[in-house]
Amino acid sequence: MVRTEQLVKRFGDNIVLNGIDFHVKRGQAVVVIGPSGSGKTTLLRCLNHLEKIDDGRIYIDGQLVGYREEKGRLVEDSEANIARLRSQIGFVFQRFNLFAHKTALENIIEAPIHVLRQPKDQVVERARVLLDKVGLADKEDAYPHRLSGGQQQRVAIARALAMNPKLMLFDEATSALDPELVGEVLKVMRQLAEEGMTMVAVTHEMGFARDVADHVVFMDKAQIVEQGPPEQIFGECENERTRNFLSRVL
Ligand code: ATP
Repeated sequence: MVRTEQLVKRFGDNIVLNGIDFHVKRGQAVVVIGPSGSGKTTLLRCLNHLEKIDDGRIYIDGQLVGYREEKGRLVEDSEANIARLRSQIGFVFQRFNLFAHKTALENIIEAPIHVLRQPKDQVVERARVLLDKVGLADKEDAYPHRLSGGQQQRVAIARALAMNPKLMLFDEATSALDPELVGEVLKVMRQLAEEGMTMVAVTHEMGFARDVADHVVFMDKAQIVEQGPPEQIFGECENERTRNFLSRVL
């Protein structure tokens, strides 16, 4: 479902992604791990064209992301096409980015009503199902400042799911949380993976990577150094850089 070919991204002279071939199959939970600054977040951001790439290609469901071919050259795609792509991809950030002046329910219904133009009754009904799914059925009228970080992040996940995404991207979704709140968010992510949601999660939670991922990708210095099933990466990984990293974080 997701395929990158020789993806290159630079910030000035800094090569942040250096020829990345990254694949996600439908229904897979892929977890990306690696040291700080290795390019994990940038890879996620490129997947829905929050960052423009410098070289290579990204395909989602066979469709080129962010660009189209014109007379044999790549030109940036229209805003409308990019917005359409983004509406099909849920993105959960480290900071929850909820609308502060809207309740939990209002946060969830905003995009389906205004972007997808779905009827309000239907959207509200589905939002309540999603709030229940993330364990917040009793919080629909709460404003973000009355919710804990873990609860806000679960609302953010419900908000992303309300768009019926075909792919969910989690960028260090638990990094900003107090340790005691991490588990409740990981539980929701684990449930989504078990239900077969296609997802890519960048995380420092190695327990989650080991238990939930179908496939683990280890990045270091702008490259994918090693990838494979969790048993391989956490068991008998071949690469010394992977071993060094894991020995520091496990
Ligand atoms: P972390 O685990 O700390 O979040 P990461 O592996 O997700 O790290 P990225 O956030 O992708 O790494 O950053 C990779 C490199 O790109 C870093 O050197 C970072 O400083 C640089 N970088 C990221 N975003 C920008 C930007 N908007 N402008 C300039 N440099 C950037």
